[in-house]
Amino acid sequence: METCPKCNSLVRISDSKFAFENDDTPDKETIAYNLMKLVCVNPECEDYCGEDVSNPRIVLDIVKNRVN
Ligand SMILES: [Zn+2]
Repeated sequence: METCPKCNSLVRISDSKFAFENDDTPDKETIAYNLMKLVCVNPECEDYCGEDVSNPRIVLDIVKNRVN
């Protein structure tokens, strides 16, 4: 698990969604990715995501994992 670079508390996944590459090109293999937004939920932190985790003020990082 990753930690916030500013306050060292554990980051939370705010949102995850799928993204695709080559899905408009029949000649190439379609690649699917899972994109996860990581946010800091420590209210003391400069990079605090705010009260609504699903709609963060600040996104620390976006993790992209290939799923196929
Ligand atoms: Zn933080």
